[in-house]
Amino acid sequence: MNEGILIIGAGGVGRVVVHKCVQNLDTFKKITLASRTLSKCEQLQKEVDGKIDIAQVDADSVEELVELIQKVKPFMVLNIALPYQDLTIMEACLRTGVHYLDTANYEHPDTAKFEYKEQWAYDEKYKQKGIMGLLGSGFDPGVTNVFCAYAQKHYFDEIHYIDILDCNAGDHGYPFATNFNPEINLREVSAKGRYWEEGKWIETKPLEIKQVWDYPEIGPKDSYLMYHEEMESLVKHIKGLKRIRFFMTFGESYLTHMRCLENVGMLRIDEIEVDGCKVVPLHVLKALLPDPASLGPRTVGKTNIGIVAEGLKNGKRRKIYIYNVCDHQEAYKETKAQAVSYTTGVPAMIGAKLMVEGIYKGKGVYNLEEMDPDPFMDELNKQGLPWHVEELRA
Ligand code: NDP
Repeated sequence: MNEGILIIGAGGVGRVVVHKCVQNLDTFKKITLASRTLSKCEQLQKEVDGKIDIAQVDADSVEELVELIQKVKPFMVLNIALPYQDLTIMEACLRTGVHYLDTANYEHPDTAKFEYKEQWAYDEKYKQKGIMGLLGSGFDPGVTNVFCAYAQKHYFDEIHYIDILDCNAGDHGYPFATNFNPEINLREVSAKGRYWEEGKWIETKPLEIKQVWDYPEIGPKDSYLMYHEEMESLVKHIKGLKRIRFFMTFGESYLTHMRCLENVGMLRIDEIEVDGCKVVPLHVLKALLPDPASLGPRTVGKTNIGIVAEGLKNGKRRKIYIYNVCDHQEAYKETKAQAVSYTTGVPAMIGAKLMVEGIYKGKGVYNLEEMDPDPFMDELNKQGLPWHVEELRA
């Protein structure tokens, strides 16, 4: 069996995936990293003492991808580029008969909207081709889906309520910067909120609903209700669910800057003309902001991401909290990336490891909660993202 993998994308998360895959060379016999900018691949190749092959590719082009996949002949492709490339990479995997994994849901560059529809539409074609697509193997989506599946398997007969709680208490010292790709981040945060209750999606104004949650190892933080993509698959796969919500923390400085930038039109994603040149304001802002990859050395503090699930076990109500705490500086020491990239890259490697080892297998397109959570939870403990379970008062 071919155990080689092709990683596409050499950004903040790609860096972590490369480092973690190299730490698991017993599983990944041959690693190839391809991205748009070859120099970033060269840099990473140097960091891991030449243990990976590299290539240049434009992942917006199915033809280029097919050519590369045919040359590298990997067991699977790990899409660690941007959500815009999900469909081209999925299509190239289909044409070449190679398994697929990603960490983020397809988004069209011209509409800030996440949706699994187009990726789930590949299910039948992947089944016919006999290949597997594992969607959303990052932290959220990703580990949060695994936490839900683990809660369902071991703690509940029925889960009624889930809150996903995402806190980044990292401080990079800048008045304003985003911890991952600014364009993806700002489009997500400035979008309307949405949660699911009793079979219906309920829309809120952006960041309209707020609660304070006391995050272990961090403390109480304002947490805002947002739409997040894992909810779309979890409402399909978690039994008896009545409500699911997603909350993320933001500091005052971040929110004030974001509102101000939005008010002056800098978050717009349509083209405008300036002195005869066509520009997209959000692209200009991205060019001005610090590169997320440069935040690593200066970010201190921790992230805490988890789920609170409430429901019934043997007729009794119970509520449990499963979470991981990750330290920005520890993550940086190991991979030269901060915790947001680290917490995404490690689960991407784990998803791929379980596929290469044949522990996760199937024909068609899957979300992570459809897989057995136990081997994933074991790997999280071994690969740098240990988790905790607390019983809360129901
Ligand atoms: P970056 O912007 O740092 O990196 C993206 C990389 O993809 C860059 O190296 C970029 O190339 C490359 N790339 C972009 N377009 C193309 C293309 N057309 N062809 C080839 N390569 C391309 O982003 P991150 O590393 O922060 O994020 C990577 C992914 O992880 C994103 O999809 C993001 O949404 C997802 N993510 C998921 C999370 C989760 O928990 N599930 C959390 C955080 C992120 P270049 O260097 O030339 O720009």
